[in-house]
Amino acid sequence: MSDCIFCKIVKKDIPSEILYEDEWVLAFKDLNPQAPTHLLFIPKIHTENFIEAIEVPNIYDKIFNAIANLVKEKKWDTNGFRVVSNCGAKAGQSVFHLHFHLLGGRELTWPSG
Ligand code: AMP
Repeated sequence: MSDCIFCKIVKKDIPSEILYEDEWVLAFKDLNPQAPTHLLFIPKIHTENFIEAIEVPNIYDKIFNAIANLVKEKKWDTNGFRVVSNCGAKAGQSVFHLHFHLLGGRELTWPSG
């Protein structure tokens, strides 16, 4: 989608700090980090949210494998991180291209607001 900011990041039309990339998935640092580790994992293909993305074959396998592999590769502390996707404006979604936040590196409280 031409006006989607995450599609522009995929195309490298706007800069981002990329930590992981394969044929399907891109992971980059969140511009406004809420924790010492705050990455966004996105499918390269444009799909709006967690529900729409069910149309994209195997997309959750690919994203969750990328998350787990990166955490393992970077040797990040596996005791205390969170993966979350805000679905819809009422849940706080502000960019309408599916993404999963990976948050870690500090104590995380629950429930979230
Ligand atoms: P959400 O509010 O769940 O839709 O999350 C969108 C996230 O995208 C927010 O945490 C923003 O800080 C982040 N964000 C927006 N624009 C950029 C950008 N150009 N590069 C990196 N992160 C971004």
